[in-house]
Amino acid sequence: MRTSDAKTSGEVHFPHPSGALVIEIGLVMLQGSRQAHVKAIESAAEKAGANVNIREVRTPGDLLEPKLHAIILPGGESTTMRKVGGEAGTRVLGEIFKMLRERPDLPVLATCAGTILLADPQDEGPPIIKAAVDRNAWGRQIDSFLASVSILGEGEQTQCAFIRAPKFTEVPPGLTIASIEGETVGVRERNVIALTFHPELSRTTVFHEMLLEAVAANNDQVNA
Ligand code: GLN
Repeated sequence: MRTSDAKTSGEVHFPHPSGALVIEIGLVMLQGSRQAHVKAIESAAEKAGANVNIREVRTPGDLLEPKLHAIILPGGESTTMRKVGGEAGTRVLGEIFKMLRERPDLPVLATCAGTILLADPQDEGPPIIKAAVDRNAWGRQIDSFLASVSILGEGEQTQCAFIRAPKFTEVPPGLTIASIEGETVGVRERNVIALTFHPELSRTTVFHEMLLEAVAANNDQVNA
């Protein structure tokens, strides 16, 4: 089980406090529970002793300098998100997909509609994750629910919100990191953490911590 001891025993290596790596996190501002992600990432950063700068990503220009170390793709309504960020909108989505294909090690946290976009980018390029999802497969908005999620490496289950959530229809072996009653609700492919629910609306910050750990691991490789 992940404990705070594990964190202080050198599991995560963030240069800190000064001359430190400032982790640039792009928070995609298309729709959805963005402020909750800010709170979750800030509390994950505090636990890990990491310095983070959260950059709101609205347009392709927001993806440029300084180079992003990680991206959060919140939920919302994927059809609306495609309109707002697509070719007829800001075009930011296409640029995000391009960046994720060019930088396959980039840590990403996608929740709900964010996961739908990664599984089915609809931009003529390949999917960003191999796991496939079916939109709204749990039912309509009224069928949204709270469920106890088992998280890989965590002893206790965590109550999480499933809001008009998608379902994974195909999950390559070994990728499941979260499940309810044996059904996969979260995967990790490389450094892409893709969930069908909203951990940012629950008490757990474990997925945001995972994102920061992936950044730290990338950084260690660069400095090795
Ligand atoms: N039902 C939404 C969609 O299809 C996803 C819902 C969510 O992100 N909470 O895009």
